[in-house]
Amino acid sequence: MIRMVDVIQKKRRGLELSREEIEFAVEGYTKGEIPDYQMSALLMAICFQGMSERETADLTWSMAHSGEHVDLSSVSGVKVDKHSTGGVGDKTSLIVAPLAAAAGVPVAKMSGRGLGFTGGTIDKLESIPGFRVELSREQFLANVNRFRLALAGQSGNLAPADKKIYALRDVTATVESIPLIASSIMSKKIASGADCIVLDVKTGNGAFMKSLDEAEQLARLMVNIGKTLNRTTVAVITDMNQPLGHEVGNANEVREAIEVLRGGGPDDLIFISLTLAAHMSVLANVFRTYEEAYERLEQILKSGRALDKFRQFVEAQGGNPGVADNPDLLPRAKYHIEVKAECDGYVGAIDTENVGIAAMLLGAGRKKKEDRIDHAAGITMTKKIGQRIIAGDTIAVLHSNDPDVSAAKNLLVQAVRIRPTAPPPVRLVHRTIT
Ligand code: URA
Repeated sequence: MIRMVDVIQKKRRGLELSREEIEFAVEGYTKGEIPDYQMSALLMAICFQGMSERETADLTWSMAHSGEHVDLSSVSGVKVDKHSTGGVGDKTSLIVAPLAAAAGVPVAKMSGRGLGFTGGTIDKLESIPGFRVELSREQFLANVNRFRLALAGQSGNLAPADKKIYALRDVTATVESIPLIASSIMSKKIASGADCIVLDVKTGNGAFMKSLDEAEQLARLMVNIGKTLNRTTVAVITDMNQPLGHEVGNANEVREAIEVLRGGGPDDLIFISLTLAAHMSVLANVFRTYEEAYERLEQILKSGRALDKFRQFVEAQGGNPGVADNPDLLPRAKYHIEVKAECDGYVGAIDTENVGIAAMLLGAGRKKKEDRIDHAAGITMTKKIGQRIIAGDTIAVLHSNDPDVSAAKNLLVQAVRIRPTAPPPVRLVHRTIT
């Protein structure tokens, strides 16, 4: 008979757990038979001792099979999901999903809410008046079949082990562990039923993986787990040393995504969105090569077909499709406070995690699980790394419904580092792991 205390001890001594031991711990914890304190001890032992690739794949499998599975077999074509490991100002899903769908890729996407200093697609979409992220299984499938696109939040019984373990990790300082992050993300992706997965692994001071080395380890591990569990997975390691685009928040991020779908918007956001959508459409066999896909998707974006798909998608999920043509229908904050540069120079670096925290303090994120988001709150970062600055220039605008923004403003002033010389150009895509 397996005993949890022996499983903890084995991992604490750095030994490899068997599939049965992993399954025992995950199943027992999901059912409430193993208490929080024993699971916490095991998670901490994993943080210190790590896990082999085989153990991580077994952990992923057990968590993916801890609840329901979405069956996408009634949807024709190769279904592709996309997932970001989390960043600041990362609104690519709002662009990539309708863009890939407009090219003919069936996109059945499960998204999450904001986590710590990072934003979440579900929170962003809920800033569209009327938009619903809770779809019945039938409605979700019907929308993917009819529009090639549906996007929903993680339903109660999808990978419930991950839900429980994640909540425990959040309060036991066991989030930043590569095997635990990899299994958490991949278990949800596997349970949500797509054939192929494109991962946007963020690296830098606004990501969970601060160094490129760690990001690469995480990316390789997730690609290999995908292979072991029969899901073709591509991971693109992208830069998160400054917010993506200019907007950080919810409604303002939706506004910026619409700008891109209308053929405008910032270059970094357009490039990362096209890169991810190109990988998705090659995996779905819609285009033959990455280069062909990138070029064709650029044309689709310029033609307005991706914007049409966005309109259709918003309407199908109960939202007001008018936001696509009139973004002023999205909530706007009462106060817009400009933050000024105190000296001349160049933007040398941005402490991106603190920009995310500043947005959260304004109400764009949650300090506690039960907090409500203020969809209108957020930050416009007017300057990017490398830009010339003159003292008195606006470096950011804080959007708030509360006139007291002092805590967020102080964080932001310190987050934007002005240096006398221009830094080297920023590389947006560091590596692609297939
Ligand atoms: N996102 C997840 O879903 N899980 C993690 O562990 C980290 C980021």
